[in-house]
Amino acid sequence: MSRRVIYIVLDGLSDLVAREHMGYLLALTEANIATHYTISCELPGISRPLYECLLTGATPVESGVLHNQVVRLSKQTSLFDLARSQGKTTAAAAYHWVSELYNNAPYDPVRDRITCAPELPIQYGMFYHKDHYPDDHLFLDAEYLRRTYDPDLLLIHPMNIDDAGHKFAFDSKQYRNQARMTDGILSNWLPSWLEQGYQIVITADHGMNNDFSHGGILPEERQVPLFVMGEVFSHDKFASPKQTQLCGLVADILKLPHDKPNCRTMLKDVP
Ligand SMILES: [Zn+2]
Repeated sequence: MSRRVIYIVLDGLSDLVAREHMGYLLALTEANIATHYTISCELPGISRPLYECLLTGATPVESGVLHNQVVRLSKQTSLFDLARSQGKTTAAAAYHWVSELYNNAPYDPVRDRITCAPELPIQYGMFYHKDHYPDDHLFLDAEYLRRTYDPDLLLIHPMNIDDAGHKFAFDSKQYRNQARMTDGILSNWLPSWLEQGYQIVITADHGMNNDFSHGGILPEERQVPLFVMGEVFSHDKFASPKQTQLCGLVADILKLPHDKPNCRTMLKDVP
């Protein structure tokens, strides 16, 4: 059984939209291939603080990454650090703030957009810096990284759902349709990744509200989906994972020793 992980963060995807409109992911759930959970994002529910949460297990209050303008390297131990220290290969197709948190801050597109740096925490990266960078291009970037470098940990982080929410609000056909579009892109890639034995975790940093923003505790902005698929998972419907536990969950799948919060009832074999 492969322990390689593809960790997908669909930026700005509210659970309310995921569980009603993403027909492919819901089909996997109905077929008992995927298990869906609803989780509450940490606060404030904004992007850079929650990238840090998803990738280090630290809440924004703990990490000090409290708003999007904090441009510095993370002070936490990240999933990428854990994987690198154990000789694993890491890659990311992600927004440039991820490069700023773990590789180089501030982001210099000439240096960082295409990253091939085995000495850095994210060894192989394709980073983008426009919120409308097309999700289908981003998944192609990720597939290039996967085929070229065979990473043990591959982060995929598209932005178009969040972008649609900021332009048209939560309760809009454009936001829902972008979620449907991204669901369709997933249906293009997941079958072959599942066939090759990847363990797949799909979640979001935060949701979206009707004020074209996010950050607080309304259900549509705070509740985010978590879909897991792969042989390592227990698919225990009564598990209640927290956003701070997803870093530890991925580390456990990769068999990386760590002291992160974890949710081991989600796994069949506890490390
Ligand atoms: Zn946003």
